[in-house]
Amino acid sequence: MVRSYSLKKFGGEHLLSPHFKLKEFASKDGCDTVLVSDELLTMLERLRSYLNGTITINSGYRSVSHNKKVGGAASSQHLFGTAADIVVRKKGEIVPAKLICCLCQTLGFKGIGYISKNAVHVDMRRLGRYRGDERRGYAGNVGGDFYRYFNVSEKQVRALAATLPAAAKSVNKEEEMTQQQFNAMAERYFAAKNDEPASGWSKEARAWAEKAGIINGMANTMAYKGCCSREMAVTLIYRLYRLLAKEQ
Ligand SMILES: [Zn+2]
Repeated sequence: MVRSYSLKKFGGEHLLSPHFKLKEFASKDGCDTVLVSDELLTMLERLRSYLNGTITINSGYRSVSHNKKVGGAASSQHLFGTAADIVVRKKGEIVPAKLICCLCQTLGFKGIGYISKNAVHVDMRRLGRYRGDERRGYAGNVGGDFYRYFNVSEKQVRALAATLPAAAKSVNKEEEMTQQQFNAMAERYFAAKNDEPASGWSKEARAWAEKAGIINGMANTMAYKGCCSREMAVTLIYRLYRLLAKEQ
């Protein structure tokens, strides 16, 4: 979703996401309106956290007149608030744009353009994908794959994130997870749910059901937050049926 902000109303220091301020995306001609896409912010935060680095936004939103002035493409994503031209630093050093193009491709940016050896255009356009070497114009002219175009290996890109934060690491783990690992995780999850205390709102019903013998405990807990299988459900109904039959 693209949101519209007023610089006057929110102020340049207004945080759009944990690490990006409104002024960083403002059109350089001083235009009060600033359009910024939520998806773009999410992806920039993702890139930042993956690298444990910093991102400088050279150009975010552009008004129509400013886009013309800087020679942007006629239907540039910058006009819609869905694009940013960035320079990425890790430990103060600029990360080569070739590697950033590849990393952004892996992370799932919709549009990626190589601008110069330091700068990269990224966008979250609604339709289609874009992979371009902007030294040669604004066409998708890299054959769709920056790794192949720049002859960069996945290993080189992964080396950028030697200090991978938990979020990025778990993404890789997820790809490699076996069925057994998943089952073990699910078992731990359900066991933990069984141990959770019941909520107050069910107090009366629980007291009645326990007294009437409709429900009883398992492994030292009543497991009220646990899942109910079909055999459990049918047993609960059967116990209620027997109880009602006895009362008649
Ligand atoms: Zn751009």
